[in-house]
Amino acid sequence: MKDSTFCHTIAERINTGVLVLDIEYNIVEFNRFMQVHAHKKQEDVVGKSVFEVFPELPRRWFERKLASVIQLNSPSFCSWEQRHHLFELPHTRPITTDSKYMAQNCTFMPIVGEQGISHVCILIEDATDVAHYQGKLNHVLDELARANRIDGLTQVFNRKHWEECLDKEFSRARRYGHNVALIMFDLDHFKKLNDTYGHQGGDKVLVDTAARIKSLLRLCDQFGRYGGEEFAIILPETDLNGALDVAERIRSSIASTVINFQGSAIKVSTSVGVSVIDSSHQRYEDLISSADYALYQAKKLGRNRVANSHDFATDAALC
Ligand code: GH3
Ligand code: MG
Ligand code: MG
Repeated sequence: MKDSTFCHTIAERINTGVLVLDIEYNIVEFNRFMQVHAHKKQEDVVGKSVFEVFPELPRRWFERKLASVIQLNSPSFCSWEQRHHLFELPHTRPITTDSKYMAQNCTFMPIVGEQGISHVCILIEDATDVAHYQGKLNHVLDELARANRIDGLTQVFNRKHWEECLDKEFSRARRYGHNVALIMFDLDHFKKLNDTYGHQGGDKVLVDTAARIKSLLRLCDQFGRYGGEEFAIILPETDLNGALDVAERIRSSIASTVINFQGSAIKVSTSVGVSVIDSSHQRYEDLISSADYALYQAKKLGRNRVANSHDFATDAALC
């Protein structure tokens, strides 16, 4: 059997697209895989420009790709991750994918004739399954990463992630002399609320309250669930007055909102502690202690109020 017959037989049987172009971009070879997937007959495409047969090709990109393959006399590769597909070949999978076209890995190979490079062979490998399962895997990884950061009940940051944010924000504020404020708030008499309406009623209050407070904050503020019914907010670039404004808005919004649960109208209030970074805070934990101390003072003074650690600086130092 002659070499060319060998090659032709292999090209016809192989489960990969084989497309050979001359240097004017005219189609010279179009194997069975291409005929089946493109729904085009060999005799209808051979001799025609590849851009006429596949008008969807990104022409400038494709010309540059072929030019570099010819100039460097070296193969080049384009994976489905770089470009999902070059040729609009419908995929034949029953599975639902993001695209109706076959994901493709394409290899461009120069073919050297007697007078130098005369043709470029393009191998088109079907990567639809890989693309599909990679997409599913990425989705699951995104979900896992999210679950690692977000509190399952209230959908705000969980404590671990929130503390990591504070650690970063605190270091940045100290290094560059910027402001950062901290608000901590704890719902009042929540145990009694649970006892009255049941745990599900308590959960509904936590969910609704978190959603409402989130809507009051700026995008750059970082809102987390610090404990059971205690929440914490990092306010970057915010001074004491700014933080006190936000704290008061949180207090009054919670106090004035009625939460409906199974026909009952639940009212709840919150005590709020505020602190702003100062030279006494060496570590982010010191800022938490200050805000927590202010929160404790707000509870002690009768609840449903805002207190700031700077009003109690001397007391705190004595503790
Ligand atoms: P204070 O005004 O001093 O804050 O009193 P309190 O009753 O709110 O505080 P306490 O710490 O005594 O009780 C907090 C309650 O919050 C007890 C706990 O069972 C409840 N709790 C913690 N996490 C959850 C939760 O995820 N869902 C519900 N429903 N309750 C929770
Ligand atoms: Mg409480
Ligand atoms: Mg508490």
